[in-house]
Amino acid sequence: MQQDDVNRSQEFRKCIECYLCQNTCHVIRDHEENKEAFAGPRFLMRIAELEMHPADTADRREIAQGDFGLGFCNITKCCTEVCPEHIQITDNSIIPLKERVADRHYDPIRGALRLLRPRPGQES
Ligand code: SF4
Ligand code: SF4
Repeated sequence: MQQDDVNRSQEFRKCIECYLCQNTCHVIRDHEENKEAFAGPRFLMRIAELEMHPADTADRREIAQGDFGLGFCNITKCCTEVCPEHIQITDNSIIPLKERVADRHYDPIRGALRLLRPRPGQES
């Protein structure tokens, strides 16, 4: 385990759960209907914290994109600006999470392998 890996998680642990970031995020604030589909910055940061933990091998990218609605975030950084603990929510948790999801979905080699792989019921 590298010191950088430890430091990354430590930043997220400074959260005092004031939920200012949640209340500020325009995706939730301006669109009541999005509350069902978008978990918001505090909870995405928690997913990122677990996803980046070097000793945690679970893959949470599908959950982040599907259940937590990561794609709704358009990285305006309003959540980061109001965080009293100065946690870089957008830069250090949401953007890296988006990059990991993009890596899974849009990696051309993985995509080609997915196409070549027989689907259930197609095996001969
Ligand atoms: S960066 Fe994303 S989570 Fe943060 S306020 Fe903007 S839309 Fe909401
Ligand atoms: S604004 Fe900062 S301290 Fe407050 S809940 Fe969000 S991440 Fe945590």
